[in-house]
Amino acid sequence: MSNSSPASQTSNYIGRFAPSPTGALHAGSLLAAVASYLDAKSNQGKWLLRMEDLDPPREIAGAANQILQQLNSLGLEWDGEVLYQSTRLDAYELILQQLSNKDLCYRCDCTRPQIRAMGNVYNGACRQRSNAPENEYAIRVKTADVDIGIDDLVQGHYQQNIGKDIGDFVIRRKDRLFAYQLAVVVDDDYQKVTHIIRGFDLIDSTPRQISLQRLLGFSTPNYGHIPVIINDQGQKLSKQHFAPAIDSNNASQLIFLALQALGQSPPANSQQESAQDQLSWAIQHWDIQAVPKLANIPDTTIQDSTISDTTQI
Ligand code: GLU
Repeated sequence: MSNSSPASQTSNYIGRFAPSPTGALHAGSLLAAVASYLDAKSNQGKWLLRMEDLDPPREIAGAANQILQQLNSLGLEWDGEVLYQSTRLDAYELILQQLSNKDLCYRCDCTRPQIRAMGNVYNGACRQRSNAPENEYAIRVKTADVDIGIDDLVQGHYQQNIGKDIGDFVIRRKDRLFAYQLAVVVDDDYQKVTHIIRGFDLIDSTPRQISLQRLLGFSTPNYGHIPVIINDQGQKLSKQHFAPAIDSNNASQLIFLALQALGQSPPANSQQESAQDQLSWAIQHWDIQAVPKLANIPDTTIQDSTISDTTQI
């Protein structure tokens, strides 16, 4: 460990937190923010913030700013300017063009029921078509029958056969919006991200992202997937499931509970300390091996008392 190294020492580590502004931070996104921050800072790395505002129909006015305020109140200070994906559309278009020039993607107008009937693994029906659809179509990238695995920093080995388990996947949606899978890969490369710590719900997107990185000649970052917080009905906390916003007036308690949920052992009396002081302690003592190797943990670990009933967005 580098506890004794000078604070000014830098490393090549670049981490990031990449919320979608579909709502304010809730207990689940707080955990991803804290874990990615601590992993970056304990490795003398940078922690970047990227706002994934690519899906206007799902976004809530004011949510992006509220997330920035919440992070500020929690003492989670990011490095550099926030990158907004809505400013990156030309870059995504260029990459799409590159894939198309190399004949690595194609148009598809299959409907949801058709894809359901395929067992939700796209069977490449549109790949062989000579008459590509002209009006409403998604763009899919071609996948191959190949195993893609990661040695996840939290969960251990994980792998998928991208062709058989996933099939050709969408990189631009029928509504012409760029798909998350494409944008995230382009921006992780653009921001030179070396480490991605995020929720377990995204582990099964990781082989798709690696397959795109390989097609585009990008390097593959290290990945760590932390447990996702679920409500008492077993649903992932999310705006769709009405996850309450965290109340950053309770910053100290929130950070304390987040550290416990991440398997760290903050001293019992540190709840009295400021969020910043607790984070300083946690940077010194961060142990990613102590993070539970679980897909999910119940939201009772981050108690109702830390949740705002007044937070409006
Ligand atoms: N924007 C995604 C989300 O909020 C996270 C993307 C990522 O970390 O790769 O779920």
